[in-house]
Amino acid sequence: MKLTVIGCWGGYPKQNEASSGYILEHEGYHLLIDCGSGVLSKLQNIIQPEQLDAVIVSHYHPDHIADIGVLQHARLIQGFLGIDMPTLPIYAHEFDQHEFAKLTYKQITKGIAYDPTITMKLGPFQVSFLKTNHPVPCYAMRFEAAGKVLVYTADSSFKEEFIEFSRHADVLLCECNFYGHQNGQSAGHMTSIDAGQLAERAAVKQLILTHLPHYGNKVDLITEASGEFTGIIKLANEFLSISL
Ligand SMILES: [Zn+2]
Repeated sequence: MKLTVIGCWGGYPKQNEASSGYILEHEGYHLLIDCGSGVLSKLQNIIQPEQLDAVIVSHYHPDHIADIGVLQHARLIQGFLGIDMPTLPIYAHEFDQHEFAKLTYKQITKGIAYDPTITMKLGPFQVSFLKTNHPVPCYAMRFEAAGKVLVYTADSSFKEEFIEFSRHADVLLCECNFYGHQNGQSAGHMTSIDAGQLAERAAVKQLILTHLPHYGNKVDLITEASGEFTGIIKLANEFLSISL
């Protein structure tokens, strides 16, 4: 598996960058995980929109879905220009019917509800889900292929169930919207300390901090997390690429 960060900003994109979006690739299959603001522009540095095989969405906050509409337009226009491509499946939960309905657009994209209680096969990946602590329904995802594991927390405050869910992951892509001295619980986000403790208790190999705050010295997030976790820690940044 290869993970490439397209955008790593929480809430909204930093100038000239993108909010949440990640490409997960295996055996030529390209899955886009979340599609926040700025993602469609930035992902074209890595892959063309018509080359995506599927999209999966954690929840319906704009920093995770804002560019779904323009992704649909991109595939529509490339189709007019003669590029032949199948309907793009967009996997998401259906616990917000208004938002879920928007994932289906002409023959261009089709919203497909995942059942978070079961493990799903998606291309070459086995995907399982964990409901997170967030103001709206949101699901963390565990992707497995060829004996490797990526866990993406999506947006959440810390919850104990993350430990088992993340157990022995090769990469834990963990949201880290707050610094160690802050309290993310009411906002539904984790701190650097939460992320470090989760990585340590789940015995993951590598921790990538993402969904980053727009203030403060971000290197402090690493320093704080490394007080809890002795493994490799990185800050997500645009086009960071990790092979699992
Ligand atoms: Zn959110």
